[in-house]
Amino acid sequence: MTQTLPTPRGTLTPNRPLADLTWLRVGGPADWLFQPADVEDIAAFLAALPPDVAVFPMGVGSNLIVRDGGLRAVVIRLGRGFNAIAIEGEGRLTAGAAALDAHVARRAAEAGLDLTFLRTIPGSIGGAVRMNAGCYGSYVADVLESVRVVLRDGSVVDIPAAALNLRYRQSDLPEGAVVVSATFRAPEGDPAALAQRMEEQIARRDASQPTKERSAGSTFRNPVGHSSTGRADDSHELKAWKVIDDAGMRGATLGGAQMSQMHSNFLINAGGATAADLENLGEAVRKKVFQTSGITLEWEIMRVGEA
Ligand SMILES: Cc1cc2nc3c(=O)[nH]c(=O)nc-3n(C[C@H](O)[C@H](O)[C@H](O)COP(=O)(O)OP(=O)(O)OC[C@H]3O[C@@H](n4cnc5c(N)ncnc54)[C@H](O)[C@@H]3O)c2cc1C
Repeated sequence: MTQTLPTPRGTLTPNRPLADLTWLRVGGPADWLFQPADVEDIAAFLAALPPDVAVFPMGVGSNLIVRDGGLRAVVIRLGRGFNAIAIEGEGRLTAGAAALDAHVARRAAEAGLDLTFLRTIPGSIGGAVRMNAGCYGSYVADVLESVRVVLRDGSVVDIPAAALNLRYRQSDLPEGAVVVSATFRAPEGDPAALAQRMEEQIARRDASQPTKERSAGSTFRNPVGHSSTGRADDSHELKAWKVIDDAGMRGATLGGAQMSQMHSNFLINAGGATAADLENLGEAVRKKVFQTSGITLEWEIMRVGEA
């Protein structure tokens, strides 16, 4: 915080609260919030930034708990200069990392490309790549061709999807690397049928998940190696919500945090929650689930910063 940072062309704000930039609306400030003008601005800034300063790229905060003490880092949040969507022929679409998944799905559908699974995921393309976002049986890994990233040393490189080792809700994106755009290769489809499918997915979501609440989506990953048939595998077939229900934690509360009554794997800010309320309730759920089933739930929500 006392360090002098390079001067970018974009905006660099010291001690910037992050709560309003996240879906859960909790958490303390970032030492610095950097909103870059364009790719070259990120590259020059990172090249000049002392290597010991931590960098945290952030999307729209739909999978994040920022802890109450905030983040000792330069948080990089991409904005307007990074949300272009281009249809490039042969089933290819390139989207800026700040483009919202829903917008990308809609633009793709209009062009007869099937990225419909992105329609109901409330994040940005950068977050979708990092998390290998997916639903209804499709994942970023199925359609991603390559990403353009700015590495922590300021170099700009294209990385093929295969090198990211995309797997269930995880990737091997290099530490501190900022995704600036992603190129997808999508199956073709009839625009009207794709639009219809997206409407059905929205209705399905609204019927099963607290989409109007402040949440960060699924709190825990579906447990690995515990299929409903009892086979040891990596299918993630056993659902986290089921083991949470079995542990009696649906609807559990702590301060302003609650495990949703509607979907027990959704941790919500029911009003006035702190990041500590949310994280501590999540930990209480993990403990109870372990006591009742022997299963250790792993967080899917990223928790960052100081308590
Ligand atoms: C109601 C609701 C429903 C959800 N449903 C689903 C679902 O069905 N499937 C699913 O997969 N997820 C779901 N999510 C979770 C979330 O939307 C996804 O994980 C999403 O991909 C996160 O994107 P984001 O832009 O919000 O990233 P953030 O939450 O801001 O960040 C998440 C991670 O991505 C990294 N990141 C973000 N942008 C960049 C970038 N440009 N470069 C490098 N790293 C970056 C961050 O450093 C962090 O590690 C849901 C969330 C909500 C609130």
